[in-house]
Amino acid sequence: MKIVFFGAPGSGKGTQSKRISKALSIPQLSTGDMLREAVKKGNDLGKKAKGFMDSGNLVPDELILGLIRERVLREDCKAGYILDGFPRTLTQAVELDSMLGQLGEQVEKVVYLDIDPEKVVARLVGRRVCGECGEEFHVTNRPPVQKGICDKCGAALVQREDDQEEKIRVRLESYKLQTAPVEGHYRGQGVLVHVMAEGEIGQITQRILEALRG
Ligand code: AMP
Repeated sequence: MKIVFFGAPGSGKGTQSKRISKALSIPQLSTGDMLREAVKKGNDLGKKAKGFMDSGNLVPDELILGLIRERVLREDCKAGYILDGFPRTLTQAVELDSMLGQLGEQVEKVVYLDIDPEKVVARLVGRRVCGECGEEFHVTNRPPVQKGICDKCGAALVQREDDQEEKIRVRLESYKLQTAPVEGHYRGQGVLVHVMAEGEIGQITQRILEALRG
């Protein structure tokens, strides 16, 4: 099954898509994680993407499309995959359709994580991530056992450069202008499922699993 996770920054796409990936035993492909990895390595893609990411803007479509094209053709994607944070523009959505069309495939479900925009700023400002393994925490909603230390691997937790309030505003604006229209694209295809993304993490996962079965 090919599933897209869609929603505003801070709607929980990363957290929920990882949980659904485990539940369905299909890989979760996050363009944000791939780009952060490239920045960490300091490779060509990372160098090109860093400035856009740090300022909260979207990385140009061509860079993202190259990344996805290569990734979905790998062996572990044969039984399906979850796309987290892609497509984020109409161009990316149309290119994904054509890429899958050439393989006789299509996006089967698009999970739209619906959240009050007022809530996402608090979610993102309080987010802390492990600099090593990428596990996510929240200063009040999901604090680590030991302050500033990852429960999973013991490395230091950091705040993402783009999780500062002024960057969050830029990300929300680019979501509104560039990403929100992608919802209409998938609504037209009849593959969009709405899930209320507020409440307890486990409950939201259950809602998503039900929506995917329906
Ligand atoms: P995320 O981890 O999904 O919040 O992504 C972090 C940042 O990576 C975004 O703010 C963008 O700068 C960049 N990015 C991730 N995915 C995409 C995409 N599909 N298109 C353009 N930029 C992206």
